[in-house]
Amino acid sequence: MIAGAASRRAAFLRRDAELNSRSYYESSLQRDAPLPPLQGAVRADVLVVGAGFSGLSAAIELARRGYRVAVLEAGRVCGGASGRNGGQTIAGFAGGQETFETQLGRADARIAWDMSLEALDLVDARIAEFGIECDRRFGYVYVADAPRKARALEAEFAQLERDYGFATTFARGPEVRGLIDSPRYCAAAYERRSGHLHPLKFGLGLLRAARGLGVQIFEHSTVHSLSRGAEVVARTDGGQVSAGFAVLAGNYSLEAHGPQLAPAINRRIMPVGTYILGTAPLGEALCRQLIPSDAAACDNNFVLDYYRCSADHRMLFGGRVSYSQTTPPDLQGVMRKRMERIFPQLRGTLVDFLWGGFVDISMNRAPDFGRVDSNIYYLQGFSGHGVALTGLAGQMVAQAIAGQAERFDLFARLQHRDFPGGSLLRTPSLVLGMAYYRLRDML
Ligand SMILES: Cc1cc2nc3c(=O)[nH]c(=O)nc-3n(C[C@H](O)[C@H](O)[C@H](O)COP(=O)(O)OP(=O)(O)OC[C@H]3O[C@@H](n4cnc5c(N)ncnc54)[C@H](O)[C@@H]3O)c2cc1C
Repeated sequence: MIAGAASRRAAFLRRDAELNSRSYYESSLQRDAPLPPLQGAVRADVLVVGAGFSGLSAAIELARRGYRVAVLEAGRVCGGASGRNGGQTIAGFAGGQETFETQLGRADARIAWDMSLEALDLVDARIAEFGIECDRRFGYVYVADAPRKARALEAEFAQLERDYGFATTFARGPEVRGLIDSPRYCAAAYERRSGHLHPLKFGLGLLRAARGLGVQIFEHSTVHSLSRGAEVVARTDGGQVSAGFAVLAGNYSLEAHGPQLAPAINRRIMPVGTYILGTAPLGEALCRQLIPSDAAACDNNFVLDYYRCSADHRMLFGGRVSYSQTTPPDLQGVMRKRMERIFPQLRGTLVDFLWGGFVDISMNRAPDFGRVDSNIYYLQGFSGHGVALTGLAGQMVAQAIAGQAERFDLFARLQHRDFPGGSLLRTPSLVLGMAYYRLRDML
């Protein structure tokens, strides 16, 4: 039984690594040589597990406040979700405002909403402060492909305008093609706060910033065990880090690398596979025809399509989720079909890249931040809205460790439920749920 779980975890990690092997982002830049793995014993004020956006952000903010920070990363920095996502920086939260309103009340839901906008500003503040070149663009289009979904979209954005002061421009019928040149959609909402960027360039910029602030970062240093207490001790194959505080920013793979590091929080997120196809360069004219404002876009289906053009004028088209741990059959064919259904203009276009990763979905899709112990913090459950929010989450952890926990605790008050199943491969009920929602999208 235990051996079976271990081999499932190993298979999951292999598949996760494979999914990144044909990434547009990895092939569009040259990484520096790996940072040396941890050797021997290191003492720090704060230990961070995981060097994605969350861990790097926490490390930067802690270092600014004078803490000695050591970051342990199992693979390469931003080799997980942070370096392979759709690059969409999106206002709000994956599950919308409802969970915040029902669990925290209107006033705190409003504070949380404003913080989601602050997270967008923080992305740009860091780009400016650290001089990060990451193809930043602004603008976002939310689209609907059926009258029922158009009504839902309009209602959602009317509520955001009424209750949160968030204005969008709404387009219906033929007007939609001025925002997205697709025959598929009947309504769209456009706003300028959200946008997109090259996530790996952004993440490697954060890495340089963290190192510049004195953060010690060790790559290829998987944390296998964590001793809890006044002194937290994380052990890797080559050494150990001891610290007064720890931040667990390992996302879904934390469980696969070290199932006993934080079993109570592992059960609250579910890794869901999602995939991105990158075409050959289309040229600027065609990209501007397809998305005139150069915005990012997504639809409001449960299994959603999300896409944008890259700075070198490729279509980066994401979608097709998978709730099982295996890569869907004929992934390229399926992704191409999804893209051509939206953009028939791209029929026959060459595909240069096809990659994917896992999104850490929480049951209610609200972010799951909190403490395992009084000195061990965790950040997870970004549910596909992590590019911007991870930055603010890391900042809030640093504030909490420095004694100002009010903002962090607003999120920590959210209640989350366990997924049934109890281990990394907790899928059967979700596969059923998925089939239901897919059917609903089709209808
Ligand atoms: C294909 C895809 C598309 C997405 N698109 C978008 C999008 O367009 N917009 C958006 O907002 N969000 C998107 N997301 C979600 C977003 O990428 C994530 O929410 C965000 O990157 C999470 O950052 P993180 O730092 O928490 O986790 P990660 O980036 O996954 O980093 C966690 C790190 O922890 C390390 N780690 C884990 N366990 C251990 C251990 N035991 N020891 C040492 N290190 C460990 C891992 O190796 C990993 O590098 C997408 C995700 C995917 C996969």
